[in-house]
Amino acid sequence: MFAGDHDIDRAVAELARLLPDTLKPLARVAYDYRWSWSADGPALFKDVDAERWARTGRNPRRLLTEVHPSALQSAADDSPFVARVHRLSQELAQDRARPSFSGVVTQERPVAFCCSEFGVHGSLPIYSGGLGVLAGDILKEASDLALPMVGVGLMYRTGYFHQRIDVTGYQHEYWLDADPERLPCVKVTGADGRPVAVHIPINDEGVVAHVWRVDVGRVPLYLLDTDLPENSPVGRWVTSRVYESNRAIRLAQYAVLGVGGVRALHALGITPAVYHLNEGHPVLGVFELLSQIRAQSQPGITDEDAWRQVREQVVFTTHTPVPAGNETYQRHEVLQMLGRIADLVGDRERFLSLGRIDPQWLDQPMGMSALALRSSRHANAVSRRHGEVARAMWQPLFPDKAVKDVPITHVTNGVHIPTWLHGPMRTLLDQHLGEGWLRRADQAATWAPVADIPASQLWAARCAARRALVELVARRGAGDRLRRGDPLDYAEAVGSGFDPDRLTIGFARRIATYKRLHLVALLPDRALALLSGDHPVQFVFAGKAHPDDTAAKEVVRQVFSLKRAPGVAGRAAFLEDYDIPLAGHLVAGCDVWVNVPRPPNEASGTSGMKSCLGGGLQLSVLDGWWSEAFDGSNGWAINGDVDTDHDAQDQRDARDMFNLLEHEVVPMFHDRDADGIPQRWVAMMRRSLMTNGPRFSATRMVVEYASRVYPRA
Ligand SMILES: *Cc1c(COP(=O)(O)O)cnc(C)c1O
Repeated sequence: MFAGDHDIDRAVAELARLLPDTLKPLARVAYDYRWSWSADGPALFKDVDAERWARTGRNPRRLLTEVHPSALQSAADDSPFVARVHRLSQELAQDRARPSFSGVVTQERPVAFCCSEFGVHGSLPIYSGGLGVLAGDILKEASDLALPMVGVGLMYRTGYFHQRIDVTGYQHEYWLDADPERLPCVKVTGADGRPVAVHIPINDEGVVAHVWRVDVGRVPLYLLDTDLPENSPVGRWVTSRVYESNRAIRLAQYAVLGVGGVRALHALGITPAVYHLNEGHPVLGVFELLSQIRAQSQPGITDEDAWRQVREQVVFTTHTPVPAGNETYQRHEVLQMLGRIADLVGDRERFLSLGRIDPQWLDQPMGMSALALRSSRHANAVSRRHGEVARAMWQPLFPDKAVKDVPITHVTNGVHIPTWLHGPMRTLLDQHLGEGWLRRADQAATWAPVADIPASQLWAARCAARRALVELVARRGAGDRLRRGDPLDYAEAVGSGFDPDRLTIGFARRIATYKRLHLVALLPDRALALLSGDHPVQFVFAGKAHPDDTAAKEVVRQVFSLKRAPGVAGRAAFLEDYDIPLAGHLVAGCDVWVNVPRPPNEASGTSGMKSCLGGGLQLSVLDGWWSEAFDGSNGWAINGDVDTDHDAQDQRDARDMFNLLEHEVVPMFHDRDADGIPQRWVAMMRRSLMTNGPRFSATRMVVEYASRVYPRA
């Protein structure tokens, strides 16, 4: 049905040759990430060989090719296991065979969802953080809804960096080869059997890209890759790293993603009904659309008509409420790397002006967000508050409009429930919410039975999830510390100190300064007091700072400066290398999820939504999604007003955070009934699940895109 089907079939047949007869259906399962969100998929592969599964980074293609033949043979001889293989393989086949969601987009004219990163699974390292994970969740949800969609992105050969923190708390980075030859993906070939090749003009050379296909359920994700021997060293480097530091290379990435993406779809015979630009990075594709339209139209089509036809096909989601996040480039930078793309428009000055806020101001730098706002028929922010912020921020682009009339709406983010809900809470909700509840997860009524789940069961699920996290913290924390060169007793303190019954507070996200991890260390006496006394808490931290963000790296060091204080070694741990699998463990296990961004800088935030699914409670600044989610009974809130004096605001918000923790969170957790159950806490968990579960599901989000954004007005 989509380009690359025969390449997938060939790869599946090759993999199946390595497998005993009864396990052959696993080959197709391995080439479709749909297994990762089916109920038994992850456990099934793990049961082949748990140690090998972990060592391959949970990559099923590698597991099946690298596992010892004796492990495959014993799985093949185990009839209950073989029955599970057949059930999973049938489930995936039936999922694929469902008819498509009917609407403006069709199997012949799908949505092309374009993004610079995709966080689909830990084994596919082509993401850095929230933007990518959201993009991955959107593909998965489109698959679940049978909404016809293809993804377009880049195959980064070394992905995002891996993190090591040294003994002083300073972050170091290293990169590993992703090696697509061992990932569950295929290179797409044409009728001649050779890889489909796409040419993109950058710099003063051309670069050639091949196209990989990764299946995410029913959605094929096409990834462009320029690491080919026919390209120059610069050309080969373009798809090396997610958010490469070199600005010229970043511009080249945008060209490959945008222009290359549109050309690749054309070469693959895919004609999208809508191009959804997830953030501005893929926007240069509009120039390729423009030249396609000119080539196909009657001679003499006006510039205005051609642009109108481009805009009709493009919708844009902005994720960045701070001007600094909307990167801009000087004219010489742009023209050096993108001059020949500017020539697709025919007029380099016109090209530059489209990316300026004020087109007439010749020295103003060019940005992809401004260009995307100008070249799309619909633009949206990712939470209600972010919508307000984005309208004010981009008003200068619409000088004849008042802020409230700036044409930027919002579609609040959501998270893909089958990806983020695991373990005991998944089992409990499956028992109580009724057959097929995931398909109705966007409806409040679906979650109503949570009110009747006995407190003892909710609390048992919470305690089991916490216990699993504490085991992980003990293992990983000790390993991290030994690698850092900490003394043995310090390394072992995390194992002996963390307690499965203790109130566990999580703070994990990208370490950007506006996320304000430093508030934790701003009032050190109060932080240390929380770790001691009759009712101590334990903290788990994780997060990566961008390699060039020295201020953010300094924040990590500031937090580490407390590591030798009494009580810290056994009650606080920073886990290295935050990624999708680690995020999964943290959001599932923490009792309280803390988020203290400097308002109004948080566009949405999604980790808190994931935490809600596992019964975690939010303690967050009223910014991003939390400003529309908090209702006074479903978590805790810190004032979200903006103070231009950052230091004053930091002090005030740190005090508010510690006040809430000391006076509300800790006492409520320890207020137990005769059976040892914290009834008020469980009541808040119920409120959180019932109010946040339906509203912040990816189902609600993708249905909104499909009903409000993709159809033309
Ligand atoms: C969900 C997620 C994020 C986004 O978290 P925020 O709350 O938006 O900061 C970042 N990284 C990973 C690995 C995630 O899973």
